[in-house]
Amino acid sequence: MDKNQDKKRNTNIRNIDNIKNTDSLKNTDNPGNTEYPGNTEHPGNTEHEADLLLNWYDTERRILPWREDPTPYHIWISEIMLQQTRVDTVIDYYRRFLNAFPDIQTFAEAPEDQYMKLWEGLGYYSRVRNMHKAAVQIMENYGGKMPGTAPELKKLSGIGEYTAAAIASIAFGQPVPSVDGNLLRVFSRKTCYDKDIKSTAAKKAATAYYAERIPADRPGDYNQALMDLGATICLPNTEPRCAFCPWANCCGARREGRQAALPYMPPKKQRAVDNITVFLIHNNDRILLHKRPETGLLAGLYEFPNTFGALTKNAATQYCTDLLHSELTTTAGRPSTPEILKFRRLPRARHVFSHREWHMTIYEVVIREFPPVSADDAPADLTNNYYLPHIQEALNDYTIPAAFSAGKTYLEKLILLSGENDV
Ligand code: SF4
Repeated sequence: MDKNQDKKRNTNIRNIDNIKNTDSLKNTDNPGNTEYPGNTEHPGNTEHEADLLLNWYDTERRILPWREDPTPYHIWISEIMLQQTRVDTVIDYYRRFLNAFPDIQTFAEAPEDQYMKLWEGLGYYSRVRNMHKAAVQIMENYGGKMPGTAPELKKLSGIGEYTAAAIASIAFGQPVPSVDGNLLRVFSRKTCYDKDIKSTAAKKAATAYYAERIPADRPGDYNQALMDLGATICLPNTEPRCAFCPWANCCGARREGRQAALPYMPPKKQRAVDNITVFLIHNNDRILLHKRPETGLLAGLYEFPNTFGALTKNAATQYCTDLLHSELTTTAGRPSTPEILKFRRLPRARHVFSHREWHMTIYEVVIREFPPVSADDAPADLTNNYYLPHIQEALNDYTIPAAFSAGKTYLEKLILLSGENDV
């Protein structure tokens, strides 16, 4: 940023006190008139602004399954799923989850493998683990009913300020703003707030701003209207659709033509890149899986055996041979080194986490046979958290995160090509 830009930016910085002044911002050209009738006047009071927003919400709101029956449990599940995840993606997960766990008690009593499997593909698996802990807390400490205030809700595992406010306002009618990325963006543009929108100061300023304006009679709708406004009109990373906005006449960014510059975000740091080599080791019947450690990235989930580095075919063959030798034993307890029938490289794959990327080299390793896994042919638990399920069973019952979706897709095709489910 050059000096002039910097100066210009600083002159536009407003603190929370003068943010209030934007309530009296006048829109002289009023181009939103034709598209949104609520823009025909601007009496300059916050109550009227809330009415404009709620009237817009009454006709334009998104139809979402958790809004059909907004119990505290439903709002809670949906809000946790929606963190870092698109609404379109969440809808099916939400329905499947409620199908399996229609209430807090059934969820609290569910085994980890079941709820983890239902979460597969949503990512950020600590969310569902914390949610389960909270369900147990609710059963043990609150008689099976979610507490009704934001401070009490925040005592539950995995419920932070935003989620507590969303549940308290939508399900319990408490007048607390639930400030997520949508509310921050609308706040920044409406008030021309141009400090770092991801900072704690920005969140505090936005919370104070909305707390003064949230109507006592419809707090949940007010929060949801802002969420919808941010998701459908005041869009991120593109031109907002101001002509359709109920707040077009009282928006500072629109008045000053600064929609594209707000909210201000400092340049992102580059993600760290890890090269990983992944092995799909199978005998056309069973596949070798590994359970990750209980802490750290993708904690406790299942993965295809892998190692750091982009291994050449020779190095990968050696690594794989050593791995099989050390992890598989015969029924007599001796190391077993199965014969490798095929060792071939599959297309590379990439997975992006929030702060890092995996660039994956993938090998399919077909072996003649695994050592007998048990007398009754049941899936075996090997040493060091290795498992040998049938391929179909691995895909159906084991929670393998999206980072390994290239391998899963390959195995699904393999099953299809085999023409039967138990390849
Ligand atoms: S007028 Fe435009 S920039 Fe302002 S809040 Fe509405 S959509 Fe966002």
